[in-house]
Amino acid sequence: MLGVKTAALPASLRRTNQRTVISLLLRLGSASRADLAKAAGISQPTAGKITTDLLRLGILQEADSAADTSSTGNGGPSRLGRPGQMLRLDARHPRFLAIELGVSETCISALPVAVEIEDRWTCRFPTPKSPEAWLAGLRTAACGLRPDRLWGVLISVPGIVDENAGKVLFSPNLHWLEQINLRELLRNLWDCPTLLVQEIRALALGHLTAEPGAEDFLLIDFGQGVGGAVVLDGELFSHPMPLSGEFGHTPIAGNLRRCGCGALGCLETLVSERGLLESFSGLSEKPSRSASRGSWKSFSSHVTQHGLDPWLKETLDATARVVAGALNVLGIRRLVITGRLTELPACIAHLSSEIKNGAMWGRFGEISCQTAPHRRAAGLVAAGINRLVLPSDDEAGTMLAQFIAAPAA
Ligand SMILES: [Zn+2]
Repeated sequence: MLGVKTAALPASLRRTNQRTVISLLLRLGSASRADLAKAAGISQPTAGKITTDLLRLGILQEADSAADTSSTGNGGPSRLGRPGQMLRLDARHPRFLAIELGVSETCISALPVAVEIEDRWTCRFPTPKSPEAWLAGLRTAACGLRPDRLWGVLISVPGIVDENAGKVLFSPNLHWLEQINLRELLRNLWDCPTLLVQEIRALALGHLTAEPGAEDFLLIDFGQGVGGAVVLDGELFSHPMPLSGEFGHTPIAGNLRRCGCGALGCLETLVSERGLLESFSGLSEKPSRSASRGSWKSFSSHVTQHGLDPWLKETLDATARVVAGALNVLGIRRLVITGRLTELPACIAHLSSEIKNGAMWGRFGEISCQTAPHRRAAGLVAAGINRLVLPSDDEAGTMLAQFIAAPAA
């Protein structure tokens, strides 16, 4: 149960150690207490207390035997330390209902603490244009997912999101979200805490979970929308006014397209999936709106066969200038690129090269541009554990205790 105290450790340090142990086990799959102490740089008695707390909370489980050490991690930890009871993240009980509310598609999975690092959603359906229809879609999609006792519903949402208040303040590509209270809406289906996480921040949290200890980075995602999230000192950058990362709404000279945010000429209207396809369709001598001409597949094969057309280079150059400017302001030299653009290596190569040219770090050292898969579900679960199960505020933890199921024997 929550309320477990480890009196010898200050609460903040205890939580840090708990999160470190969870993160280690997510990557290692399983490990003994001694392994964890060594890898986390903490004493064995401390590791013992931390793991006892996490076992009681149902976050960890004991791996029964060598046969149970097949894991979600990359394996091989069993001989790191002294022989002992192997521990792993709990994979037996779905604890969270994770929902990706995308502009065109909604995805949903019931997930245990031992979440897979890369997204693999169980159900999906086209995102409708009204909250009522969306709720009906969720109800249908979720009927096959029947977790016994949920710790929380975790939902990634596009737009400008006040995560603490659980409100979408502004959503350029899904305006109906601004009119409703998502938490109240979801209470019609599940009576447990609901956590909203802005969709790009969820990706960054997932990346942080998969590759912890990495230096500061800016994650940029290209999909129906275009946005970023900043990680500094191993923590997601947050501010009460949640306007950071919105590089997609930077105006580009000469661009006359109207953006969903109401402004004219935003970068997003050029380099989002829709923007790219609009430009690609416009190439045709006889402008055609046929599905084949305007599909991502035909665009992708065109780029693969013919390389970068001048309009595409211009779009990528404009994107690079905005991103390089962001890196220069933040003083960050590591960039993580996710989303549809990563399917086009020629685009990534050009974009990376131009960003390196424009970023000050390039004059003094290396700029790292890497592509990464979407790890949104892992990011949502990380947020769920951090904010619902191991929240910073002890009182919040006590309040939420009722939602935490006693671990199975
Ligand atoms: Zn805009």
